Amino acid sequence: MATAVRSRTGPATGFPTRMLIGGQWVESRSGKTFETINPATEEVIAQVAEGDAEDIDAAVKAARAAFETGPWRRTDARDRGRMLNRLADLIEENADELARLEVLDNGKPISEARHGDLPLVVDCLRYYAGWADKLHGQTIPVRGNYFTYTRKEPVGVCGQIIPWNFPMLMVAWKWGPALAAGCTIVMKPAEQTPLTCLRLGELAQEAGFPDGVINIVPGFGETAGAALVEHPGVDKIAFTGSTEVGRIIMRNAANTLKRVTLELGGKSPNIVFADADLDAAVEGAILGLYLNQGQCCCAGSRLFVEEPIYDAMVERLVERAKSRKLGDPFDPTTEQGPQVDKTQFEKVLGYIESGRKQGARCVTGGKRWGQKGFYIEPTVFADVKDEMTIAREEIFGPVMQVLRFREVEEVVQRANTTDYGLAAAVWTHDVGKAHDLAHRIRAGTVWINCYDVFDAAAPFGGFKASGIGRELGEKALDNYIELKTVTVALR
Ligand code: NAP
Ligand code: MG
Repeated sequence: MATAVRSRTGPATGFPTRMLIGGQWVESRSGKTFETINPATEEVIAQVAEGDAEDIDAAVKAARAAFETGPWRRTDARDRGRMLNRLADLIEENADELARLEVLDNGKPISEARHGDLPLVVDCLRYYAGWADKLHGQTIPVRGNYFTYTRKEPVGVCGQIIPWNFPMLMVAWKWGPALAAGCTIVMKPAEQTPLTCLRLGELAQEAGFPDGVINIVPGFGETAGAALVEHPGVDKIAFTGSTEVGRIIMRNAANTLKRVTLELGGKSPNIVFADADLDAAVEGAILGLYLNQGQCCCAGSRLFVEEPIYDAMVERLVERAKSRKLGDPFDPTTEQGPQVDKTQFEKVLGYIESGRKQGARCVTGGKRWGQKGFYIEPTVFADVKDEMTIAREEIFGPVMQVLRFREVEEVVQRANTTDYGLAAAVWTHDVGKAHDLAHRIRAGTVWINCYDVFDAAAPFGGFKASGIGRELGEKALDNYIELKTVTVALR
């Protein structure tokens, strides 16, 4: 395993590149590898083992054995919690290294990786560590002379497929509840960002998770991912990524009737009323859109601003967008790094082009930044109309759409005119209006006078085409639990 030098000051220079199957770090069965690149420099970081159906099969068998016959089965719930806490400790101890590795592979600014993503990772694992020994069943008063109770049992072998936008955080969201519930895992990280997931695999071994409980198979979606979804030895698929792939996964999981939870895309409305605290709303809009280079499923990419403050708000947004510091993501003062890869970079530039063509007014940004790396200027489109492509499709880049509205009824209706329903925000001093809108907007999360407030205890997930099921909070445990009813005849 490549665990060479782990620099304390510069970029990470040593990390695992093989796959983790049954406690062993192995090359792919085919011997194939794929490149992962640094999106800030476009240079190759490493060759990573490329898993396909054969490797997935080996990993599923290892996870099945660990679930059915391994020591995991007999591990007390409290000890599962202890291991999760130990993993959280190890992540904290290695936080600087992990943050650098994330920056190297994903391009996000170090300040976000280290002080945003990592604390959330640790918090999530600790939150679910606390749940491990609190998964109670119930006793049920049935008719007749019977004693009936329920048990919460692990669903079994879980296939977990994650995206590249928050590589480590997605690991934590998936591993935390699955391991607390007693499941075993085969994870496929995104091809763009496999490195931190593999490193977390090493730390999980150090934390004491038995062999085969966590298996990691890097590779491509169409091969490794698809094989995982179709494998009859997998009981459940948890997926985060595009709505398009979510549909494919649901279809392909149907043959084997797998349990499926999906956390998909969004086109979230961020609604600012004229009576809002304008400073706070501007900051909320900036954070809600530009965080993580705009690569957030819950990005507030439809900013509805009430007529009387529309022009002032656009002016302030332009000023703030222009002042954002782009550059080397390892520089602690950098606020925006590159998009994750060339495909995403080109896709986002394509949306900017379509916005211009369809008549939106590009008030700042709108092009590549610098000569090297997949950077895009923070972009603001004003005078955006609901029917424009940039107002309907997920852009997943630093491109803000500002729309104008006049009435409450109008904005509720327009906010809901989308296939998506992941998140929304409302900015106003009027408490009644804020809650009224929060209740009427069809989205899994509504923030009032804030944006992107995440907590391990608060459920997150989508209405409509934004997904099925919830992650985080107590609710996410249900994704990994089968409820069993036991009835005993009494004498
Ligand atoms: P994606 O294709 O949905 O990728 C997500 C994960 O699914 C990756 O691990 C991917 O593998 C895997 N996958 C792809 N096809 C699969 C299949 N047929 N069966 C099983 N697994 C499969 O997303 P993307 O192509 O990276 O990004 C495209 C768009 O998706 C973005 O522009 C954005 O709009 C959206 N997106 C949303 C989120 C979110 O958090 N909701 C995150 C990322 C992207 P590969 O590594 O080979 O792709
Ligand atoms: Mg990469």
